[in-house]
Amino acid sequence: MLVSRDVQRDNSVVRVGEAAFGDGSFPVIAGPCAVESEDQLMACARAIADSGGQLLRGGAFKPRTSPYDFQGLGEEGLKLLALARDRYGLAIVTEVMSENEIPLVAAYADLMQVGARNMQNYGLLRALGKAGKPVLLKRGLSATLKEWLSAAEYILANGNPDVILCERGIRSFDSHTRNVLDIAAVPAMQEMTHLPVIVDPSHATGRRSLIAPLARAAVAVGADGLLVECHPDPDNAWSDGAQSLNLNQFREMMLQLPCRILKA
Ligand code: PEP
Ligand code: MN
Repeated sequence: MLVSRDVQRDNSVVRVGEAAFGDGSFPVIAGPCAVESEDQLMACARAIADSGGQLLRGGAFKPRTSPYDFQGLGEEGLKLLALARDRYGLAIVTEVMSENEIPLVAAYADLMQVGARNMQNYGLLRALGKAGKPVLLKRGLSATLKEWLSAAEYILANGNPDVILCERGIRSFDSHTRNVLDIAAVPAMQEMTHLPVIVDPSHATGRRSLIAPLARAAVAVGADGLLVECHPDPDNAWSDGAQSLNLNQFREMMLQLPCRILKA
């Protein structure tokens, strides 16, 4: 398999904007679950840029469990992301849910996110192999590490070597947290593949209070970066408010990351 360490011993370094995933640094991706408005997005972007984050995330096309929940602003959301990139110099990450939306999303995004629910959408993965943009591939809700690697292989086998893997928690029996963060998956995947592996403690736990401690765990375990949700007013967020840091909590979390303390 192309993703295997046996094929390539050295880490792959995936560059997105100013950030490099896989070179021993720890780029931080942050932003709201969904793009809601210009004010909301710019407030996030300003806090992220000021605290040393490199990428702004925000869903414009949202994979919601219920079809009656907010589905995202669509192209208007993509335009707001592009505006934030211009103003704050952050690269942007947003989800692409289907093959036919690739040209539209690729026209705006620097990094194309494949959500957990789409990890085994092979048509989408094949097409992203040919789309010419780096891909952030989230682990499926109950995907084994082998299945996750095979999903990445679809993208590489179709011509795109720039894949970042994201551990975002898996289904288990205890509903105290939304999912269970499989922290062991990080070094386990890094043994098997040369691709960078990052951690998303927001979707892994569903709980704001657990994000900062697990972000520190991600550094300790050797992850290649972090993805967290933040929002200027989490209690009134249109999606995933309970797992979103407010902007002060986000700044605080950034200050507590061991890699940043050591650099300072
Ligand atoms: C998201 O990043 O907002 C998201 C929907 O994530 P996941 O696909 O991991 O549930
Ligand atoms: Mn979310």
